[in-house]
Amino acid sequence: NQQILLDNRPQGEAVASNFKLVSAETPALADDQVLVRHHYLSLDPYMRGRMNESKSYAASQPLGEVMIGGTVGEVVESRNAKYAVGDKVVGMGGWQEYSVVDANAPGALRKVDTTHVPLSHYLGAVGMPGVTAWYGLVKIIAPKEGDTVVVSAATGAVGSAFAALAKARGCRVVGIAGGADKCKYATEELGFDACIDYKVHGDVKAMAKALKEACPNGIDGYFENVGGWIMDAVMLRMNAFSRIALCGMIAGYDGAPLPMSNPALILINRMKIEGFIVSEHMEVWPDALKELGTLVGTGKLRPRETIAQGIAAAPEAFLGLLKGKNFGKQLVKLI
Ligand code: NDP
Repeated sequence: NQQILLDNRPQGEAVASNFKLVSAETPALADDQVLVRHHYLSLDPYMRGRMNESKSYAASQPLGEVMIGGTVGEVVESRNAKYAVGDKVVGMGGWQEYSVVDANAPGALRKVDTTHVPLSHYLGAVGMPGVTAWYGLVKIIAPKEGDTVVVSAATGAVGSAFAALAKARGCRVVGIAGGADKCKYATEELGFDACIDYKVHGDVKAMAKALKEACPNGIDGYFENVGGWIMDAVMLRMNAFSRIALCGMIAGYDGAPLPMSNPALILINRMKIEGFIVSEHMEVWPDALKELGTLVGTGKLRPRETIAQGIAAAPEAFLGLLKGKNFGKQLVKLI
């Protein structure tokens, strides 16, 4: 069983030598346990926070242990009456080829149906990132039909699900993404009404101007994934009583400071800004997954994936995700 451990903590930017590839024996199963062979491993921005010792929105990962992470795979051995060999499951198997799971532990494993939804999408649009988009849109932004909503990291796992969910609620949906290819994909494939390339409109003034054109009625809801100057620019275009779902601030995950230059706008516009962590809202998961599964099953949401091959490729793929090298959900394929 090949595994990737967190070997040492990043000093500033995360690097490949923070990780270590090892081989380990898979232990024999105890009662109620199952052995899962992972087909795909999910790479997610929150993992960067876990690599640090200091407090982040996710708990710090101990050194010398398998990197934590979501996985989808197949039961290949079972000593649990509820799971049979061949069942497709989603879990938190970590950066390794196999995991031994106490299948009765709450939330440890969930069986999934791959008839209409490909297995890998349970790590993306019909999984944690999709529910994240759903929570921020439905519970925090709570748009009315005709509202204008904006999302940063627009073509990523969360952003692409956000677009489909917001279109289904009759919103004008504007994305912010890095590069012409991503923006073209956003408008042509994901249903965005407009998408602004922050590499072209590369400062607060230029971004605010582009936002004014793309959002002639101002912005009612913003789903923040990035932070920093992009957030400053969006703040300038927010309407009275607008809402910001503060989901992520990836521009700061490697340690860069992210000052907010005009907090007085929160008061002037009587805005609501709410941070959230999707795993603390398990009560919405069933409804959210149902809607997301339908959107994918009916082809209204066709999420793109970037797939790295083999466990050894995980560290580089993860570092690429933090720099926007991924195009859609970043996965590692293990078989
Ligand atoms: P994505 O698939 O969106 O990948 C990350 C993207 O972030 C990159 O592709 C890149 O897109 C963009 N990015 C990276 N660095 C920068 C930068 N410096 N400035 C601007 N954009 C940057 O990842 P996810 O969809 O999985 O996650 C999106 C966000 O949601 C993250 O911030 C993540 O932490 C957050 N999140 C929060 C959760 C919660 O519970 N609060 C749960 C899940 C995710 P581009 O090339 O367009 O810049």
